[in-house]
Amino acid sequence: MKRLISPFISSIIILCFFYNNTFAQRDFSKVEIKTEQVAENIYMLMGSGGNIGVLVGEDGVFMIDSQFAPLSEKIAKAIGNLSDKPVKILFNTHWHGDHTGGNENFGKKDAMIVAHKNVKERLSTEQKRPFNRSTPAAPEVAQPVITFDKEMTFYLNGEDILIFHFHHGHTDGDAIVYFPKSNVIHMGDTYFKGRYPYIDLGSGGSVDGVLKTINEVIFLADDDTKIIPGHGSLSNKEELIEYRNVIMLIRDRVKKAIASGMTLEEIKTSNLTKEFDEEWGAGFIKPDRLMDIFYSDFSN
Ligand SMILES: [Zn+2]
Repeated sequence: MKRLISPFISSIIILCFFYNNTFAQRDFSKVEIKTEQVAENIYMLMGSGGNIGVLVGEDGVFMIDSQFAPLSEKIAKAIGNLSDKPVKILFNTHWHGDHTGGNENFGKKDAMIVAHKNVKERLSTEQKRPFNRSTPAAPEVAQPVITFDKEMTFYLNGEDILIFHFHHGHTDGDAIVYFPKSNVIHMGDTYFKGRYPYIDLGSGGSVDGVLKTINEVIFLADDDTKIIPGHGSLSNKEELIEYRNVIMLIRDRVKKAIASGMTLEEIKTSNLTKEFDEEWGAGFIKPDRLMDIFYSDFSN
């Protein structure tokens, strides 16, 4: 019987398993929202999905990203413990569902949604995804009502909140949110702390775009800057530099392997990332998937 399961079928089984575990309806009932203070008026909220940033103050709450819709009530409660003001602005660092899934719920409560123009473009149209998936357009109330292209600034709660789209990196709509007064930067998914990066080539991302974006943030940051990654715990410039160096090293190895004529399969079996896999490959992006992404980016 075992012999009847061909490699093709087993890869389908693996894909289905991956699909079910990653994208299907999850049980959010046990997810707790943890709040960590980052600066006097800035907090990071962790639950399931991308890390949320919150700036509180007299003018109202400025919120960065919204995780998944079933968590909105818990997130609103956690924010309610920090401020009695409503969420005035919900800013999205990019369009992915683990960062925008709660947009509809907060939009219905009159939060004004703001993001890069390509986030609006992707949230307002059906998006084709890998593994024959597709993401339908978000309802209008979940879409940005204000967009920016290169940069924009909010003046709220005594902070100048500087927003930058440096390059197409994780996606083509990435935003970096910089609070110079509090010395805090939210990087969205241009930073997966301590893990291999996910670069969504299908959404206009690129490895070099991520590297260039990280270099811009390293330039902005000093030794005391608190850096909120899209995923992972609160971080700093030193750890971001290490992240950049690992990505650069792997990029150079993959480019060299491609230049020497190696196929993707040969690259995968040659363990180019061996010394990093145990630690950096423990998250969402495993070594094989990383090679898929890097190879696809640099072989075209
Ligand atoms: Zn993402």
